[in-house]
Amino acid sequence: MDALVLALLFAAQDASAPAADGAPAIDLAPAIDNAGDAVPATEPSSRTDAAPPASPAAPPLPSFAIARVRTHDPVVALTFDACATLKQDNGFDREVFDILKREHIPATVFPTGRWIEAHPAEAKELAAQTWIELGNHTYSHARMTKIPRNKARQQLARTEAIIDGLGRKSVAFRPPAGAWNRSVVRLAAEQHLPTVEWDVVSGDAGGYIAAKTMVATVLASVKAGSIVIFHINGRGPHTKEALPDIIRGLREKGFGFVTVSELLQLPDAHPVSARPSPFGYPPLHEKAPTPENGAVNAIPPG
Ligand SMILES: [Zn+2]
Repeated sequence: MDALVLALLFAAQDASAPAADGAPAIDLAPAIDNAGDAVPATEPSSRTDAAPPASPAAPPLPSFAIARVRTHDPVVALTFDACATLKQDNGFDREVFDILKREHIPATVFPTGRWIEAHPAEAKELAAQTWIELGNHTYSHARMTKIPRNKARQQLARTEAIIDGLGRKSVAFRPPAGAWNRSVVRLAAEQHLPTVEWDVVSGDAGGYIAAKTMVATVLASVKAGSIVIFHINGRGPHTKEALPDIIRGLREKGFGFVTVSELLQLPDAHPVSARPSPFGYPPLHEKAPTPENGAVNAIPPG
């Protein structure tokens, strides 16, 4: 497929650009993972019809949620969500933190604003680590495709302000449950954030999947440019058991570890779109959510 046809870069980084719902600057369908239709983030020709980014140094953002990148570099980004809602604080899995620190694994952590507020000391500790990047996971773990646009915008902005308060800038937006559409991606772009999901689900959320299975799944699934999702808020009771073997196994396969922003900035990185998921993805152990089966309320991987 012609990459130019799939040139999906748009100019929503410019906060002055019109922010009409569902009105991307370039109205083309996103490339879908596994279809081999990665969209070059830095392809000069793909910028032809896009307005310049807000900063001359910043490449335009894709108009889709990124599942992984295509790259020849054998690197992988391990990511850790720290979800909390208005009703559920969750926790902090210090053993996961300690493993990452001990093993010198750069990591990208996606807290919700509520998680930071509920765990101020731990949030400060995360923010103080040079090997950790922070991302925006909304304020209260909102399903961004299901709430009004102004509320969704507040979810992002409020959390950006909270992360600013930690002295850090977030590097990406991760939609709770992986629920995204182009309108949501555009809202994140208003905050200069790429929307970043994952292509490898560890399956740690809820503790339904044994550590041994998690290790096998991740090691069999990771490819160059993969993004793996875990949890560091105690939602993954087996994460600490699986992580050492996952790290060891990936090293044995020749993979190195990078943060999400490092992954996106690789010279040959071509972002690959996640599958559109207006309701969010189901956990590995559940069937796909639909409005009919009510599974949209199940706790999803993101
Ligand atoms: Zn989450």
